[in-house]
Amino acid sequence: MSRSAHPAGPRHADVLPEGHYSAPAADLNALDEKVWSRTVTRDADGALTVGGIAVARLAEEFGTPAYFLDESDFRARCRAWADAFGPDADVFYAGKAFLSRAVVRWLKEEGLNLDVCSGGELTTALDAGMPAERIAFHGNNKTVAEIERAVEAGVGRIVLDSFQEIVRVAHIAQRHGVRQRVQIRVTVGVEAHTHEFIATAHEDQKFGIALADGQAAEAVRRALSLDGLELIGVHSHIGSQIFDMAGFEVSARRVVQLLAEIRDEHGVELPEIDLGGGLGIAYTSDDDPREPHEIAKALSDIVTRECESAKLRTPRISVEPGRAIVGPTAFTLYEVGTIKPLEGLRTYVSVDGGMSDNIRTALYDAEYSVALVSRTSDAEPMLVRVVGKHCESGDIVVKDAFLPADLAPGDLIAVPATGAYCRSMASNYNHALRPPVVAVREGEARVIVRRETEEDLLRLDVG
Ligand SMILES: *Cc1c(COP(=O)(O)O)cnc(C)c1O
Repeated sequence: MSRSAHPAGPRHADVLPEGHYSAPAADLNALDEKVWSRTVTRDADGALTVGGIAVARLAEEFGTPAYFLDESDFRARCRAWADAFGPDADVFYAGKAFLSRAVVRWLKEEGLNLDVCSGGELTTALDAGMPAERIAFHGNNKTVAEIERAVEAGVGRIVLDSFQEIVRVAHIAQRHGVRQRVQIRVTVGVEAHTHEFIATAHEDQKFGIALADGQAAEAVRRALSLDGLELIGVHSHIGSQIFDMAGFEVSARRVVQLLAEIRDEHGVELPEIDLGGGLGIAYTSDDDPREPHEIAKALSDIVTRECESAKLRTPRISVEPGRAIVGPTAFTLYEVGTIKPLEGLRTYVSVDGGMSDNIRTALYDAEYSVALVSRTSDAEPMLVRVVGKHCESGDIVVKDAFLPADLAPGDLIAVPATGAYCRSMASNYNHALRPPVVAVREGEARVIVRRETEEDLLRLDVG
């Protein structure tokens, strides 16, 4: 995945086939279990089913476009992460990937903790009954009002992101007569994505406090000196959609070095380190994500080894997977509206959603898969680009994929692995109505976030 972002304006037509797509799968009807949620299969009629319900029924009852979230799969992934890390580590689900009150209840029931990074996410978490001590509050510019609410609620940790915030949180905590548990977010000079990482001395980004030039050490010095704060550890998050553990190796080494410096200077061994999230998932059959137990073992081995060589007690580890939990558990269901074959180029398939329900393709050049799901087909594969209905030529859902050549308006197609950063980044561009999220489990489907209506749009527009 490239991290290059495109300008918001229309892109120049890049219509020549670029040859970046893989060859078509041998069987376009096959559903690769890597990219589809666990209860997805095809029924005797060839229609895709999730949680035992066929997509035609789902489309009829809930409309399209819509996100269908496989609740059993979500819960199973939560348990897999919790089991893999065990009782001596903490798993925080990154709520920004997708958050709703139902999701909060599932997390609570399955024993996970929760990361929030705004007042809105905090409200959702508390309203759905997540115990405050299981919530971590992130963000590079939390407002005073947000910090007040977090401190009053008694969140388990606030992750401090700047020198100003160290003082701000300390004052607010003191005013409330509490010692707030905090971590300091450091930037370790590692930027990791997919199969590469870059390790540098300096990092050019807005988050955290640099390890370089003794900045992080100075932040620790200040946090330790303030009565309102209980400094429990150091936090590092190095990127997203990462498959290669080498970036974590470098970041863990640098964080442990900082812990050793803190011990040498202040005589305290901070009890925790947080290694962030960013673990990759399969968006297409070309991606090979690791299982949670492999990740847990790799991270724990790295930290143990680094601590042994620094003669430190091994701290309690926490991690913050968002995408790796929710990403694979949902697909977006669309109805095909128009089909335009461009001779010698490719076929444009327009669906009833687009960049308003999945901005990742336009924003990050993200790759997705797509399948015809209302039926099977034996027709030849055709090269398609799945596009939305927005007034923007960059409104692309799936850049290059193959669908059967007999695809017709009215067919249902689905894009898997849209559980993370699709509904949570959805917009009302062109006054689109943001799609619902429907949870499906054991033959039952229920709306957990309803579809927006035109009344919703008019209610905000006060005229
Ligand atoms: C975004 C983010 C995460 C989650 O990232 P995923 O790629 O969804 O796992 C975790 N921690 C922090 C601090 C983040 O900013």
